[in-house]
Amino acid sequence: MSSVTENVQEVLEDIKKYSIYPERVKLVAVTKYPIVTKEKLEELMKNGIFSFGENRVQVLEEKLELLGDEKDKIQWNFIGNLQKNKVKYIIDFIHMIHSINKLSLAEEVNKRAEKIGRVVDVLIEINLSGEDSKEGYELEEFYKDIPELVKLKNLNICGLMTMAPNTGDENLIRGSFKKLREIKDSVNNKFNNNLTELSMGMSGDYKIALEEGATIIRIGSKLYE
Ligand SMILES: *Cc1c(COP(=O)(O)O)cnc(C)c1O
Repeated sequence: MSSVTENVQEVLEDIKKYSIYPERVKLVAVTKYPIVTKEKLEELMKNGIFSFGENRVQVLEEKLELLGDEKDKIQWNFIGNLQKNKVKYIIDFIHMIHSINKLSLAEEVNKRAEKIGRVVDVLIEINLSGEDSKEGYELEEFYKDIPELVKLKNLNICGLMTMAPNTGDENLIRGSFKKLREIKDSVNNKFNNNLTELSMGMSGDYKIALEEGATIIRIGSKLYE
């Protein structure tokens, strides 16, 4: 077996081992790295992984080119900071945008989606780390914007996304995942909403995220080791 296959199988095993509801968990293979060649993409597909994540529009477009007709088999997830002027390039085909981080971006996605008569699945990215380098809504601002966000008819807000703080301290990492789940529950209670998805956990911390209720894990580097 080659390494991608082994690594995918290991992550799938870990989902069963660590998740509180393994049948609900989806693995998004993050393909943004230059080492991810066409062969590696094909190997992911051979292992049943058809959900890919990219964080830059241009790199995503390069992947579409690389895959040719096979690109249509993929559920493309956008996981990075999305500039408003780039929304138009992905709106036709994007499966889920994980990184809605401000009202103006949500409105732009809604407007473009409405134009083509589609409803787009999105997640709201929350910045729980307090680090400037991390994109995402500040919690207070998110709560303030909820009434406006839920009015956007061409957005299907499925849940929340976060990135854990960049630290070796497992308690801090676990705390931020726990917090995201609590925010989801509190939004559902207060706004009678039905958020179900928690996109959290990367190569270094996905086991903790699974224990804390992740429904989507976004794994990159570990798959190509
Ligand atoms: C790169 C990236 C990942 C994957 O990170 P790895 O550490 O390579 O698993 C997950 N989420 C986001 C938002 C990313 O930018």
